[in-house]
Amino acid sequence: MSTIVQKFGGTSVGSIERIEQVADKVARFRADGHNIVVVVSAMSGETNRLIALANEIQDQPTPREMDVLVSTGEQVTTALLCMALHKRECEARSYNGGQVRILTDDAHTKARIREIDDDRMRADLDAGRVVVVAGFQGVDENGNITTLGRGGSDTTAVALAAALKADECQIYTDVDGVYTTDPRVVDSARRLDHITFEEMLEMASMGSKVLQIRAVEFAGKYNVPLRVLHSFQDGPGTLIRVEDQSDMETPTIAGIAFNRDEAKLTVMGVPDTPGVAYKILGPVGNANVEVDVILQNVGEDQSTDFTFTVHRNDLQRAEGIMTRVASELGAREIRTDAKIAKVSVVGVGMRSHAGVASKMFEALAESGINIQMITTSEIKISVIIDEKYLELAVRALHSAFELDVEPVEG
Ligand code: ASP
Ligand code: MG
Repeated sequence: MSTIVQKFGGTSVGSIERIEQVADKVARFRADGHNIVVVVSAMSGETNRLIALANEIQDQPTPREMDVLVSTGEQVTTALLCMALHKRECEARSYNGGQVRILTDDAHTKARIREIDDDRMRADLDAGRVVVVAGFQGVDENGNITTLGRGGSDTTAVALAAALKADECQIYTDVDGVYTTDPRVVDSARRLDHITFEEMLEMASMGSKVLQIRAVEFAGKYNVPLRVLHSFQDGPGTLIRVEDQSDMETPTIAGIAFNRDEAKLTVMGVPDTPGVAYKILGPVGNANVEVDVILQNVGEDQSTDFTFTVHRNDLQRAEGIMTRVASELGAREIRTDAKIAKVSVVGVGMRSHAGVASKMFEALAESGINIQMITTSEIKISVIIDEKYLELAVRALHSAFELDVEPVEG
């Protein structure tokens, strides 16, 4: 008998009809003899509705009261789902985060889980009951209600799965899995049967918004196999797991990620002397602006150009800081460009395969796309290009790495 944690997101429990459908699915798994713990989100739109109510009273309500308020959304769905299960003669009990005792720190609205007491859940499972837990919430040491940050139900599910040493944590959502790239950009994008935690983190951080990144990190850390599936369509979904060393032929590239979130700043004609990178990036870091890609050219005539990217929302702030720094450094000018895009090929297979970068650059060259910046990590190569070539680049890379072709399993 395996233990499975199943998480249903807001759209999956967005109406009574859908809750009944979820109940059908859960009851079926239970009838198959599995131990089932269900984690639910609030009905879709509910958390936003509650936040809007709060903001009608105060722009910045205290985080403590905010948590008391927004945690109610999830409590509603736990009870409704249990009722739907009872109607199906499936024994079930609902719990909020404090009742399970999902102990968190006291950082209201962005709390971190410290510890989970699994006694109560185990007792119910042993008695044959389905356990339904409110996602996104916990309690601090003093019994105050806390929440885990937007999208936090994914993290609740993974944390419960880790605590129960569940065989699998299933995240039911409105897509049927993780794709090689965004199917809206590439028609032939394919659902992946599996992907590693590391690859998923690289894909997710760049736009495949299927899962809360924090939940993937958590699952990787505790080695909880995570499966993304469609709530109302049958199918195997995508299994996110550790790298399977027994795979004869790991595909080199798992997918192509991209985003339009970044903007580029270039400080032209800065002196080519020790400490310049620090003088430029130090104040940016102090202003809590995150820097992503950095490029410094070889100096010529004792001066050099220094380019880096930040989130587009931070461009104005970074430009302000640079204007100050530039005059201190005696730099010639500052150029900014918000019309850039970042495209990345991601895959653990590139650790053992040479030539991924050259293949990537070849494909871009053949499409006549100019590469402005390049950055690499062990399992990812990213390029910054002109935003207007983004879709062309993604398509070219998707086909160059043969991602539209179903892999032959070894
Ligand atoms: N209901 C919360 C939100 O909308 C948590 C979640 O759905 O995961 O962010
Ligand atoms: Mg969600």
